[in-house]
Amino acid sequence: MTLSQNLSIPGRALAIGAHPDDIDFGCGGTLAKWAAAGCVVTELVLTDGSKGSWDPKADQATLVALRQEEQRAAAAALGAGDVVFLGHTDGELASGLAERAEVCRVIRQARPDVVLGHDPWKRYRLHPDHRHAGFLAVEGIVAARDPHFFPDQGLPPHRPASLLLWEADEVDHVESIDGFLPAKLAALLAHRSQWQSTMGIDADRAADEAAFETRIRERASEAGAAAGLPLAEAFKRLDRL
Ligand SMILES: [Zn+2]
Repeated sequence: MTLSQNLSIPGRALAIGAHPDDIDFGCGGTLAKWAAAGCVVTELVLTDGSKGSWDPKADQATLVALRQEEQRAAAAALGAGDVVFLGHTDGELASGLAERAEVCRVIRQARPDVVLGHDPWKRYRLHPDHRHAGFLAVEGIVAARDPHFFPDQGLPPHRPASLLLWEADEVDHVESIDGFLPAKLAALLAHRSQWQSTMGIDADRAADEAAFETRIRERASEAGAAAGLPLAEAFKRLDRL
């Protein structure tokens, strides 16, 4: 399959992730590149991240507050602007009409040219929140573009030009992130509460952190290799929205 690459820099972009840190893993380099070129980037995090600890005694309210703080720091590292939290319980995200209305509202408020989200059709995906978050990105766009969906919101309809899905089941588009890997890594490392569980950064901090950076660099290098780019993020691209 031939891969398309590098959309023209959007004026506004909205990234939709299930948990704090998903956006940074999925498209952090792309968002940093666009923000550096003047794109207004908004992040929408659907759950509260309250299951994101291996410590069974962790206080969940403290963890939720900490994870919001970490996500804001991560967004700042990318040059992104607003971070919107819907605060659904981690692990219990649904993709029904009520949640679709919430995502539709944020799309109509942020008015993005490009939306980025999880690929809901990724085969053998385990985490239900990632699947539901993907469907909410897709179905939120369908609602946002049509004035007869949720007219009570009192917001004009909005139709984005493109949707990019990360963790794609069928990759057909890449964004070069050459020069923006440091920003992506800085955003990821802002999620201090996830170092041990998600990033494998533990007792031997320096060595573990280096190994994590190597893993992220290798992933970007593999994504780029298919398109002759040094470093990239891979997506499924949908344009006829
Ligand atoms: Zn996640």
